Amino acid sequence: ATMPEDVVEKTLKKLDQDKVEFLQMQFTDIVGNVKSLTVPKNRFENALTEGVVFDGSSVAGYAQIEESDMRAIPNLDSYTLLPDEFGKSRVVRFVCNVYSPDGSRFPGDPRYVLEKLLEKVHKEGNEFFVGPEFEFFLFKRDANGNPTTEPSDYGGYFDNTPLDSASDIRQQIVRELYELGYQPEAAHHEVAYGQQEIDLRYAPALKMADRIVMLKSIIKNVAERNGLYASFMPKPINGVNGSGMHIHQSIMSFDEKVNRFYDKNAKYGLSDYAMHYLGGILSHINEGSAILASTVNSYKRLIPGYEAPVYISWANKNRSALIRIPAGEGTRKRMELRCPDPAGNPYLQFAVILGMGLDGIEKKIDPPEPIEKDIFHMTKEERLQEGITSMPESLGEALHHLRNSKLMRDILGDHVYENFLTVKQREWDQFRSYVGEWEIKKYLPTL
Ligand code: GLN
Ligand code: MG
Ligand code: MG
Ligand code: MG
Repeated sequence: ATMPEDVVEKTLKKLDQDKVEFLQMQFTDIVGNVKSLTVPKNRFENALTEGVVFDGSSVAGYAQIEESDMRAIPNLDSYTLLPDEFGKSRVVRFVCNVYSPDGSRFPGDPRYVLEKLLEKVHKEGNEFFVGPEFEFFLFKRDANGNPTTEPSDYGGYFDNTPLDSASDIRQQIVRELYELGYQPEAAHHEVAYGQQEIDLRYAPALKMADRIVMLKSIIKNVAERNGLYASFMPKPINGVNGSGMHIHQSIMSFDEKVNRFYDKNAKYGLSDYAMHYLGGILSHINEGSAILASTVNSYKRLIPGYEAPVYISWANKNRSALIRIPAGEGTRKRMELRCPDPAGNPYLQFAVILGMGLDGIEKKIDPPEPIEKDIFHMTKEERLQEGITSMPESLGEALHHLRNSKLMRDILGDHVYENFLTVKQREWDQFRSYVGEWEIKKYLPTL
């Protein structure tokens, strides 16, 4: 992977003009943590041409000890000048691709997994577009600066100041996103105290996954600057709404003129292509669940009563469904999948969503009829009669489905598939063998 000299020249010149002092070389581990190496000025040229070397054996789910000399090579077009923080040195962040010691693309790099899957769509002249609704909490810190679960404010859905003192922080976040060209579309207070939402305009999936990684660090940084702690934990507080990352998606021609999901004359305005895509997602959602909702805590969000999906169904209006078709025609026709949460790895989340949909298209899987009733108020018998089943109830159950899925192995590739299962099974085993407060309260008084 050698970089054309003139592009390197141009980038170096730009770094000089922007008075940049440090580079951040960014990639993610398989569970979604951002990794970044800092490069000082004297190593700029070297970092641009040869990338940076790191020890893969200390990155979750990456490599064995024997092949630990990995290399992160920057995509020069991902040049992101971080917003100017008064008095601090200027930093440019690059999104990197990860390479194995032998110089080939590393199969455990989540970005590579998504890239490979996107090839299938690109080959047919189409692009996979996604738009996230990103939810998170802002919490206070204690006297020592450690995060608490005390909300930053006592606002509720769409509230504004003075109840919603977080509105200023949302504006700071949105300003940074805007400066980076991310096209933030909306920001508002969510239902729970301290809970916020930021929506980005749809973009090609690879670009959007890069943006979400960046969005997460912007949110964390802005919160910190304001003395707060931002959390992407899906269900941080008992008995109140959790945080989801609903994903709006469509497949369109590159120029965004033809929406493959739209057919004006079809029932529901959804083309056959879209219906099969929908069928694919609904029929494989159990298998993909561990990637979309990837923590023990994720499954405490996916319960009845908190606007999070529980049952495997789709609907045109009903917001309790797993997949909703928002109102909209032409290029605005899209699907909204509601089970993903902000704690996951966005590259793998998008790869899995697309992979399930493409399998439906390939196999012409028909979805069931939409359910417009409020499924949450149906009895279990009524649901069974309608053939509505439920999402996995725990990470353990989701891992069981993942382990039995050939499709997921195909989508993720052997390396990510196996390492993800290993890392997450360990997480689940730790949790299920831990005796917690709930059990002591429940059983000790009587047993
Ligand atoms: N917070 C809810 C979830 O967990 C969504 C609420 C909403 O956007 N209407 O998905
Ligand atoms: Mg929303
Ligand atoms: Mg919301
Ligand atoms: Mg939504």
